[in-house]
Amino acid sequence: MLFEENIPKNKDQRSIYTKVIFITSWGIVACCIGWMLLAYYLNEPLIALLTGPALLGTIFATIFTAYGMPLLGRTVWSAGGIVAVTLASFTIHEAANPELMYLVLLGGPFLTFAVGRENLQLTIVVAATAISLMAVLLLGNDFFGAPWVGKETAEKYLATGLLFMVFILIAVEMAAFGILAHTNQVKMEASSTQARLASRAKTDFLAAMSHEIRTPMNGVVGMVEILENSKLTTEQSRIVETIRDSSTALLSIIENILDMSRIEAGKLELKLQKTEVLSVFEKSADTLRHFAEAHHVTLLMNYDPDLPKYMSCDSGRLRQIILNLLSNAIKFSKRPPEDPKGQVILTVGFSDKDDLKVEVSDDGIGIGEEFLSSLFDPFEQSAEVRRHEFGGSGLGLAIVSQLIEKLNGSIGVQSQRGQGTTFTVHLPIIDREGQIRCPDLRNKTIAYLKNSDDGVHYFQKPIEKCGGHFKAFDTPADLIAAAQIRNDNVVYIVPFACDDWQNDKASPVFNSRNFPDETKTIFLSPAPHHLAERSEREHIFLPSAPILNSAFSKALERAFNLKAPKPNVDNSEKDEFLANKSDDVGPRILAAEDNDINRVVLESQLAQLGYTPVIVEDGAKAYEAWKLDDFDLILTDCQMPIVDGFELTRKIRDDEEKDGQGRIPIIAITANAVRGEGERCLLAGMDAYMTKPTTLAALKVTLGQHYKKADHTSTEQSEARFKTE
Ligand code: ADP
Repeated sequence: MLFEENIPKNKDQRSIYTKVIFITSWGIVACCIGWMLLAYYLNEPLIALLTGPALLGTIFATIFTAYGMPLLGRTVWSAGGIVAVTLASFTIHEAANPELMYLVLLGGPFLTFAVGRENLQLTIVVAATAISLMAVLLLGNDFFGAPWVGKETAEKYLATGLLFMVFILIAVEMAAFGILAHTNQVKMEASSTQARLASRAKTDFLAAMSHEIRTPMNGVVGMVEILENSKLTTEQSRIVETIRDSSTALLSIIENILDMSRIEAGKLELKLQKTEVLSVFEKSADTLRHFAEAHHVTLLMNYDPDLPKYMSCDSGRLRQIILNLLSNAIKFSKRPPEDPKGQVILTVGFSDKDDLKVEVSDDGIGIGEEFLSSLFDPFEQSAEVRRHEFGGSGLGLAIVSQLIEKLNGSIGVQSQRGQGTTFTVHLPIIDREGQIRCPDLRNKTIAYLKNSDDGVHYFQKPIEKCGGHFKAFDTPADLIAAAQIRNDNVVYIVPFACDDWQNDKASPVFNSRNFPDETKTIFLSPAPHHLAERSEREHIFLPSAPILNSAFSKALERAFNLKAPKPNVDNSEKDEFLANKSDDVGPRILAAEDNDINRVVLESQLAQLGYTPVIVEDGAKAYEAWKLDDFDLILTDCQMPIVDGFELTRKIRDDEEKDGQGRIPIIAITANAVRGEGERCLLAGMDAYMTKPTTLAALKVTLGQHYKKADHTSTEQSEARFKTE
């Protein structure tokens, strides 16, 4: 409705309009009083009468506004002005300058009605002003007869009065515009400060929560790792694996929430560094190998061999993007074990503009058109996903799109419900350097089975680039027949050897007995470790789903004896480490940690890594221990009672400087994952920092790096011992 209040009901907002009405009302009242005095002086009561409509309009406008009907008040106020000016134009026309008066009138509606919200009222009042002006101009000044005031008086007094009034009204309008703009600016500043404070409070709260959650999680993750390395029955291993997966999932939710709050607070910063491009994609795909297997999905990788070896990028964030897209693709392509496997393909190549183009495509549930527009919004999940309880927080894609934007790239999606999805990411290639390593495959042939779904065909271009020849066989029988004739320049890629691959019944075509010993073969298998253990003779196994370029190159080099043979199956870091673990007393590490459980975890982890741990509860005890005894490295929690990790470091560094001692490496283990904590550690004099929960692998790498760097003679002996690992 015309007079229905549609400005915000909020009191502050309403008071701006009230203020404007009141200010301009005072201006109009002042003008009216001026006119009345002039009428009295000229003894022309009719002139005083002209002020009537303006004065009445102003009085009613003020009353309506004061009694909570500002829109009606403002409309009456505008109408009063139009009536007064129109009457004046017709009656005192000898001196009236209608154009000037209507011009002043035009400021009124823009002052009293909110542009955008009250366009209807604004248009009506502006139109009424224009119609009145037209009427005056068309009908002529003397349409209602001779002017009230004589020509001489009008020119002498009224013309100046009118000019003066126009001047006052323009000044009042300007003042009102100024007040309106200023008030809005102040309000905007206040609300933006409020929003900033609220966002900071949220970030602080999340950081505190993350700190509180990370501390017990360190206990869970650490203990699970220790348990995994102990002797367990199959059932116990399964239980431990479930605990590990659940804690990893919980950690990733915490990370996502933290990332989201960093993004919202504008605190997300990239660490651009020289990045080995293909390695980032291979490691991401490798990480999800078991996840894909568990979801009955084949994960394949396809890359362009012309990719640069290095480019400048934030490798951690790039990995996060790929892991997110890949894990979604796998999750949403899950199939029951009795059905054919789902398929997810990671393709890395170039776009038309020579940017890096990454495609993650799947043949999963797809995305309905109605959901595509909110796909990248935080906490959004499609109806199917919510209905079928796929889990997840709906934060992954929101973070991915923000990260890509930060990396100056773009992301797009193509999908149809039930038909699968393809996400395409474009990223600029900055500081490209080098080429992907290529084994020398000149005169070599790589034979494979056409139409096998293991993704070997994706290697045609890379192999040809390395000088090799790629030969496809139509049927398994053809491949096996060709393999019976020895040729040292040909290697046969034998697809998907199953677990029972030596058993004729289980795998009548592809078992090792079909291939003579002297024929060069590479057996593809989703579980090469398993097969290697059960194999009667030494074979080359290549982990499939996905086949990684680095592993394929090594397998080819080994098959063709291009390099010294490497162990067939890589041991994981952990196995290698444990196998090499020495019974000697390892380097001495002083660790300060106030949480009981985390002390136990740290002690076991350090012992497992071959160090000799001395664990104390706080910084004060650590400082005493450091003074009394010799240590090779200090690990410290940051937040501890009595003396925290920062103060402990400062005290030690001060003493070292005073006494001219060598510098002991100090590494922080912090549960605080927010930006700035690491810098704080380094500023306090520490050498490095790690974020809880600390895994064995991360501890091993960081301790190894800093222990080796340590420069003090007391460690020479133990260093030698460490290096044997
Ligand atoms: P989450 O996976 O934790 O739910 P994301 O932000 O990663 O959160 O994804 C948001 C939603 O987008 C998902 O819940 C799902 O509805 C949809 N989605 C993302 N990737 C795919 C995909 N590959 N196939 C089908 N739907 C997808």
